[in-house]
Amino acid sequence: MPTRDDAGRRDATDALGPMRELFDLPAGVVYLDGNSLGALPAAVPDRLARVIREEWGGSLIRAWTDHDWWSAPLRVGDRIGRLIGAAPGQVSVGESTSVQLFNTLAAAARLDRDRDVLLTDAGHFPTDRYLADSVGRLLGLRVIAIPAAELADAISEWADRVGVVAVPAVDYRTGELWDVAGITAAAHAAGAVAVWDLCHAVGAVPLSLDEDGVDFAVGCTYKYLGGGPGAPAFVYVAHRHQRAFEPPLTGWHGHAAPFAMEPEFRPAEGISRTRIGTPHVLSLLALDSALDVFDKADLADVRAKSLALADFFLDCLGDLVLDGTFEVVTPRAPHRRGSQLALRHRAAYEMITALIERDVIGDMRPPDLLRFGFNGLYVSFRDVHRAAAELRDIVASGVYLDARFATRRLIT
Ligand SMILES: *Cc1c(COP(=O)(O)O)cnc(C)c1O
Repeated sequence: MPTRDDAGRRDATDALGPMRELFDLPAGVVYLDGNSLGALPAAVPDRLARVIREEWGGSLIRAWTDHDWWSAPLRVGDRIGRLIGAAPGQVSVGESTSVQLFNTLAAAARLDRDRDVLLTDAGHFPTDRYLADSVGRLLGLRVIAIPAAELADAISEWADRVGVVAVPAVDYRTGELWDVAGITAAAHAAGAVAVWDLCHAVGAVPLSLDEDGVDFAVGCTYKYLGGGPGAPAFVYVAHRHQRAFEPPLTGWHGHAAPFAMEPEFRPAEGISRTRIGTPHVLSLLALDSALDVFDKADLADVRAKSLALADFFLDCLGDLVLDGTFEVVTPRAPHRRGSQLALRHRAAYEMITALIERDVIGDMRPPDLLRFGFNGLYVSFRDVHRAAAELRDIVASGVYLDARFATRRLIT
């Protein structure tokens, strides 16, 4: 196993090392769960306090104009656009990912009503599956779920009927990175559009939505973007689709003239028509502050470091990987994985619980996957070394077999 000094040397030459100071992480904690809830950017509490006292408390209703709350969903959307390769005017922020999925899947399916098949990844995150099924029931579509690896074949098989292909960029369980450009091109060749879920990719993997010809995308902001619990989601609609985009949730913020208070809905021009109701201003502005971190680091560097941290973790586990104690479920090739590693072990729950007791925070997904997220912005090589050393000790000592680790908690 590499030594702690080896890890220290890697940290000493890590150009992103100082970025950790931009986060408020508790001392002594190794945080490998930024893929579920990103760490707190240190500037956010003061910014939120100012928003609450000065903007809300001081300006009251005038804040919508004086502090430009009204255009915040689009302004923050353009900032996210820079991280996903989207030119301005194609991203807006608001609601939850689940709500955005519903609206976007339905609007995408309504582009061509002659096509009645929605293809989705069988391994997609549950909310994505549930909402695809719901949209299918509402619009009378046949929803077919197949493993993402077989999607390209399925698209050509259903070429005369498929209207929408709904896929994650990175699999939430295995960390596998799918071919955004390739699957989008396959969908287009069949006459369909693709709706990408970027929850586990945005802020971790550089994306180029415009260049890849992506039609639609949604994503979370509380994972790698660090927007905080319940931070609003974002939606991307390529310029070429905006005029025909008819979302089912027609709220007044998406109206062409919201303050004309007209009795009937007329969609706004451009990306504004994806807006629904009054945004969660506090969460939105916390996210705005969190995004400042990305102005100070190049996402390509964050990505490269994340890959190096994950590789270092596997090096440190060494024989436990080689002898099959842990099966590495995540593909090893850099172009086929996101920012997390998934290791299979039948005692995944007990092991993660034992790790958390030692202040090494990862998580698990049933039935048997340990998940470790390696955020290049705030995880160090020494963190990774410690996580591996604790995991090795937990395995070697058998402590995870202790009854206290077997009691299931609600949230894993
Ligand atoms: C985290 C995640 C979600 C979460 O959706 P919410 O509406 O924010 O709860 C949805 N889809 C994927 C793929 C995710 O990883």
